[in-house]
Amino acid sequence: MTVRVRFAPSPTGYLHLGGARTALFNFIFARSQNGVFILRIEDTDKERSKKEFEDDILENLNWLNLKWDEPVIRQSERTDLYKNVIKQLIDQKSAYYCFCSKEELELRKQEQLTRGMTPRYSGKCRNLTDSEVRDNLKKKMQYVIRLRVPEKIFVFNDFLRGEIKIDLSQVGDFIIAKNENEPLYLLANTVDDHYQGITHVIRGEEFISTTPKQILIYKYLDWQVPIFVHLPLVLGQDRSKLSKRHGAKSISEYKKEGYLPEAILNFIILLGWHPEKDREIISIDEAIKEFKLERLNKSPAVFNISKLNFLNRYYLKQKPPEEILPLIDFSLYGKFNGKSLICQNGLVYSYEKLLKIINLAKERSFLVSNLLESVDFFFKDFDYPKGLLLWKQVDEKKIINNLIEIKDKLSNLEEEKFESLNIKRILDELSFSKDKGEYFWPLRVALSGKEYSPAPFDLAEIFGKSRTIELIDKAINLLKK
Ligand code: GLU
Repeated sequence: MTVRVRFAPSPTGYLHLGGARTALFNFIFARSQNGVFILRIEDTDKERSKKEFEDDILENLNWLNLKWDEPVIRQSERTDLYKNVIKQLIDQKSAYYCFCSKEELELRKQEQLTRGMTPRYSGKCRNLTDSEVRDNLKKKMQYVIRLRVPEKIFVFNDFLRGEIKIDLSQVGDFIIAKNENEPLYLLANTVDDHYQGITHVIRGEEFISTTPKQILIYKYLDWQVPIFVHLPLVLGQDRSKLSKRHGAKSISEYKKEGYLPEAILNFIILLGWHPEKDREIISIDEAIKEFKLERLNKSPAVFNISKLNFLNRYYLKQKPPEEILPLIDFSLYGKFNGKSLICQNGLVYSYEKLLKIINLAKERSFLVSNLLESVDFFFKDFDYPKGLLLWKQVDEKKIINNLIEIKDKLSNLEEEKFESLNIKRILDELSFSKDKGEYFWPLRVALSGKEYSPAPFDLAEIFGKSRTIELIDKAINLLKK
């Protein structure tokens, strides 16, 4: 039997972490079993479903590299299929027309609530005769279609939780369609799972309560029931329902903020599943190799934004600069034509130099979006307070002198040899048997204007000889003022 699983989002909102997690577990399970992963857009709710949300879901699944194996199915394009099933259920008396008005239903509900009962449909239209139904339909009375629910204890199996018992007498006859052409989610979802040959329904725990209702439909239609696997809830650190307040966002927001897909996938795979030896870093390929449904947790997973940040830092560090470069928005710093960057102040950086800058910057950031912030001095003219150039108690004159010494030595270094190693050697020689900070510190400040920055010899190499000398001159002049 080929495993067939699906991700079945309703396009009523952007793809968020929870949805991506469901998609990911289905994807991994399919890949681990040489199975098929399907994407189905559940757009039966016409008012709330939007093209914009569907586009967002598809775009972000692609971005996360969760590729589906068959053409996307949209429920709005399958009305005939549902219509036939609704008709069959009515014909065999498993479902029936209900003509009760909204007001009447509301009144019954209030009555039941005052009597301390769980509100459920009274079953008033259950036993209408065929001719009564025909008459009502002829009179164009408003109706819905309800499933006949037996009053009994119903037992079903959840893969992770085992047997779950539910008293169907508390459920009541529920609505499966507004009319023959408008099935509700519960019915359309079941029909599609059947016709798409879904073997395992892997979805969030919030759907557990709809499962017995769906299994009832399978039974009425004599269809094979798939295996149900309900993923644990994801909670915020305070154990309340996950929300924006806990840092949870849509996938496109994370993308915009500079998170990498690898980090997001690694992060969500740990929300409810543990790889062997409780590793924190795990790639999708590794996860596919060792994935077992049995290792999914039953207890809620807790969302921790610092873990996501940690993972993003990790994956950013691992990523070669050539792969990071296309992700950067250079427009903040100048004009980038794919080969070189021309900054607003006229400085030009070649592709190779940009790679070197990225290499320095990725040690200091955990997000792509602000990666270059820590090294923005490369791209613009900058100022800094004179005092920053001073090292410990060393007096100004000495620092001026040291900067002049550095400048002279660097001026004699040939352009082709203006490389970090050679520059470091010069600084080492100058500061030999002295406090290194007397040379390294003021040069670093001269080249970056910052208290914290990458090493001065690395900065100097990227700046190149003339800009380095220019910046040293600027520092000397500032000290002389
Ligand atoms: N369309 C449902 C939702 O996204 C999914 C239900 C299911 O996976 O069975 O809320």
